[in-house]
Amino acid sequence: SKQLRLDKFLADMGIGTRSEVKNWIRQGRVKLNSQICKQPESKVTPSLDEVCFDDKPINYSKYSYFMLHKPAGVVSATTDTINRTVLDLIAEERKKDLFPVGRLDKDTEGLLLITNDGELAHELLSPRKHVDKVYYTKVRGKVTEQDVEAFLQGVDIKEEKLTLPAHLKILISDEISEVELTIQEGKFHQVKRMFEAVGKEVIYLKRLSMGPLLLDPDLNPGDYRPLTIEELEALK
Ligand code: URA
Repeated sequence: SKQLRLDKFLADMGIGTRSEVKNWIRQGRVKLNSQICKQPESKVTPSLDEVCFDDKPINYSKYSYFMLHKPAGVVSATTDTINRTVLDLIAEERKKDLFPVGRLDKDTEGLLLITNDGELAHELLSPRKHVDKVYYTKVRGKVTEQDVEAFLQGVDIKEEKLTLPAHLKILISDEISEVELTIQEGKFHQVKRMFEAVGKEVIYLKRLSMGPLLLDPDLNPGDYRPLTIEELEALK
């Protein structure tokens, strides 16, 4: 099977960034087949070699998990004839089976999980699981305590049922208001339609979290990184 560099192997497994991992290898924290290996460029065959970091064995996962800070202007699809897609932002060799977990509108920014793990995606997207999604949004018009109450009760977005209880935290109430909204569903254009239901227009939308996964504040729009082991464990 295929070989790759030791530093790339560890970075792909979410141990750290490529440069962090290089330093840790040089510091002697990495063992390759029970021997300390200080050369980041050493070749690893994932199915045959045993790699340990701080004496902890690192199993090469058949799945990849990336946190993307989606910028506005790209679509959450794997292919598109006109628009750039979120996958165009992923510069990985093994990217052919990757897909975004759920969708953000073309003009929405923020957290998007990119993986090839269909089972995890299914769990996170299942309507029965009520995975919380937190959005930061700017809306035209004064957001009021009535809106907070309405979102808690559920609003009519012309689906079969009212929306499930959602938590609205008012940060600024003014001509342009700023709020944080937590929803447990993921209907098409849900946040925009909820504000529309109370007579307000979303003018900026950014997803901050999905379940336990928080958008890394160090990731600029358009950037991505592998999930850390801790993030992945929290999701599973
Ligand atoms: N709600 C929306 O209206 N748009 C998104 O992109 C995400 C949630």
